[in-house]
Amino acid sequence: MKAAPFEYLRPASVAEASAALGRNGMTTAAIAGGQSLLPMLNLRVAFIDLLVDISRLDELRAVTETPSGLQIGALTTHAAIEDGKVPDLFGGLLRRVAGQISYRAVRNHGTIGGSVALADPAADWPGCLMALGASVRIAGPSGARSELVSDFVQGSYSTSLAAGEIILGFELPRPGASLRWGFAKVVRKSGAFASSIAFVVTPGRSAPVSVVLAAAAARAQACPETAQHLQRGTATDEALRQAIARDLAVHVPDADAYQQRLHTATILRAIRDWRAQ
Ligand SMILES: Cc1cc2nc3c(=O)[nH]c(=O)nc-3n(C[C@H](O)[C@H](O)[C@H](O)COP(=O)(O)OP(=O)(O)OC[C@H]3O[C@@H](n4cnc5c(N)ncnc54)[C@H](O)[C@@H]3O)c2cc1C
Repeated sequence: MKAAPFEYLRPASVAEASAALGRNGMTTAAIAGGQSLLPMLNLRVAFIDLLVDISRLDELRAVTETPSGLQIGALTTHAAIEDGKVPDLFGGLLRRVAGQISYRAVRNHGTIGGSVALADPAADWPGCLMALGASVRIAGPSGARSELVSDFVQGSYSTSLAAGEIILGFELPRPGASLRWGFAKVVRKSGAFASSIAFVVTPGRSAPVSVVLAAAAARAQACPETAQHLQRGTATDEALRQAIARDLAVHVPDADAYQQRLHTATILRAIRDWRAQ
């Protein structure tokens, strides 16, 4: 199938792209790697009047290490992160996550900005960035703003992006030397979206533990009961299972027995990964 007709614009700056995306009376969309948007247009599950091609905007490409952490441009591809072209302040977590996204062909084109903007509940980056306490930098008609990724992603394919706004990139706070992380992902078929994803991150020695579950509900969710048990450092497996059950009851209240076991096993695997570091 082919996409319905639309106009195409390749702006020369973020300001021009933002103005085009905010045009009154038009349905517009930015395109970055095109890995999700193009199939949606071709299958005619999405219809637009104007496609704004941001894929060549250098302003969205920069990756910078700063004293406070790491800034990753929205156009950074999964492949660039997998290949170590982004400084590794996080003990290999970003590379491991990137390398497990779909197939290399998708990773060559798909971008971190496109992934978070799309807010697919089963995507890897929203949960990972939430667990790392990252913020998203956004430019739009009323200037630039910054928001925690955990606030930015509001639900299934739903974010706080307003008309004319573009994701510039992400700011990841620098972790301490005693950073520990665990990551577990269950996929039914190689290259497919996950059925369950869990992250466990301690950014430093006295920093709070963050446990995030994705691909379980409309958006990635923090699991505070489980995190508190890990923080105490004395949790038995049974106590952890009970804490996970309480978190699942809040975030996935309709989970059947299979889903409860699946998400419990994923979180426990991530915890084992975290404990092994
Ligand atoms: C077969 C297949 C399997 C996949 N499996 C996984 C997986 O396992 N895990 C995973 O995380 N992802 C997966 N993906 C998604 C993929 O990795 C990309 O992250 C995703 O397609 C979005 O990135 P993109 O750059 O291609 O965005 P595009 O397709 O270009 O755009 C997606 C959406 O984001 C918007 N957008 C893009 N960039 C910006 C920006 N800078 N500012 C504002 N809005 C923007 C677009 O308007 C559009 O609505 C898979 C995709 C495919 C095709």
